[in-house]
Amino acid sequence: MATKKCPFCAEEIQAESIKCHFCGENIGMGRWKSSWLALYFKRKALEEQKKIESLDAKEAQRNKSSNWLALYFKRKRLEEQQKIDALNKKSEQKQ
Ligand SMILES: [Zn+2]
Repeated sequence: MATKKCPFCAEEIQAESIKCHFCGENIGMGRWKSSWLALYFKRKALEEQKKIESLDAKEAQRNKSSNWLALYFKRKRLEEQQKIDALNKKSEQKQ
């Protein structure tokens, strides 16, 4: 029968195992949870991307009238981009 390494204790276990009998970790469940989390972070990143787009639109509008507001929207946009980067990093780690 095929075997795999437990991601928690690195012992050889049966490929179909959903629970490691060495350390007792729930492997099948953990994988499911990971991909769910990756999906969650991806959706959050997408939401943040939409915020950036609306900030871009606002910035373009304000550019003509107020430099101060344009700067404010630029800073907000940078903050959102950092959030997206962090979310992307998290979702990659979970895969
Ligand atoms: Zn284990």
